[in-house]
Amino acid sequence: MPPDRERLTRMLFDEYIEMYAARDTRLLARFSDSFSGFAGSSDKLVKSRAEWVEVTQQDFAQVPTRIGIDMVDLFVQDLGPDLLAATAFFHIHLPIPDALFSRETARKVVLFRREPAATAGQGTEGDWKIAHVSVSIPYGKAHGSEVYPIDDLRQRNSELQALVDERTEALAQANHQLELLSNTDGLTGIANRRHFDEALAREWARAQRARTPLALIMLDVDVFKHFNDHYGHLAGDACLKALALTLVQTGARREGELAARFGGEEFVVLLPGSDLQAAADVARRIQEAIVQLALPHEGAPHGIVTVSFGVSSLQPQREQLPEELVRQADRALYRAKQGGRHRIELAQVLGEAAGG
Ligand code: GH3
Ligand code: MG
Ligand code: MG
Repeated sequence: MPPDRERLTRMLFDEYIEMYAARDTRLLARFSDSFSGFAGSSDKLVKSRAEWVEVTQQDFAQVPTRIGIDMVDLFVQDLGPDLLAATAFFHIHLPIPDALFSRETARKVVLFRREPAATAGQGTEGDWKIAHVSVSIPYGKAHGSEVYPIDDLRQRNSELQALVDERTEALAQANHQLELLSNTDGLTGIANRRHFDEALAREWARAQRARTPLALIMLDVDVFKHFNDHYGHLAGDACLKALALTLVQTGARREGELAARFGGEEFVVLLPGSDLQAAADVARRIQEAIVQLALPHEGAPHGIVTVSFGVSSLQPQREQLPEELVRQADRALYRAKQGGRHRIELAQVLGEAAGG
């Protein structure tokens, strides 16, 4: 194809596609009096200029603002002195949210024919007119006076959106459930070790910033191995559940306080804002409640289930780690065990410990 003919064809096509995309009604004047064509989402063969003008007007009315045409491929042909063809593949981006249509490839063939101008005298070259347009939009079918199947698209989009919303909601619920499960001790239903670790880190940082104390009570059931041996593991489990419930009810009563199962037959209560004496008061309250429970434990020194307590409280210093609070409570608990069990021991304040 001679370069000038190729340039001409491309120019005619570019001009056509720009007017079409811009919804420019000057396009209507470019159609040949002897026109044939078909619109992409319709199965009707258009055999006259008047009909095609109507189709184009409907198209412009249905989508009044510019549409995006994203050209994928274009091939031009020289079919004779007065006949040029352009075949194009492209994506159409309608000005509505649409995830389907814009990914399909639409196809279009346009024939340009040089026709004598109405006013032309002998010897004039005539004008290039659009003699044929065939469009395939391989998606859905337009209804009624539609040129694009926009109602279909909207419907499919809203169905899709409803499905996405539904799945998102289900996912959020599942995640919430998962979070609850992953923060809950399976046996007792109170907070688990992971939940405690997170709370400790958070409250430690907060206490560090606010320069307030943070207290910890560690509890360990006394001679519990013996309880299991004597009553069986299921009874042991029931006992741990009862103790956990008492702990939650009597230990962690204020906002931010947390009772958790630390592991095995050991529990913790985290008390933001409490100094050693205040935490010791809470420990005494828990101890009383457990004595009140009076769970039988034959063979234990008091005949009922008892617990030993280690209590610590720190005003976190810079560069001090939260493990220090746990370590101090654990040491105090050890002393409670050594001292005969069913006791509350307080962490030794630095000066005291050094002074012996
Ligand atoms: P101490 O007073 O020194 O704490 O004595 P103890 O017997 O309580 O301590 P030890 O560490 O020897 O035994 C702890 C027991 O706790 C042994 C273990 O079987 C029991 N235990 C830990 N977790 C569970 C549980 O989930 N269910 C039951 N039934 N028992 C448990
Ligand atoms: Mg233990
Ligand atoms: Mg024990």
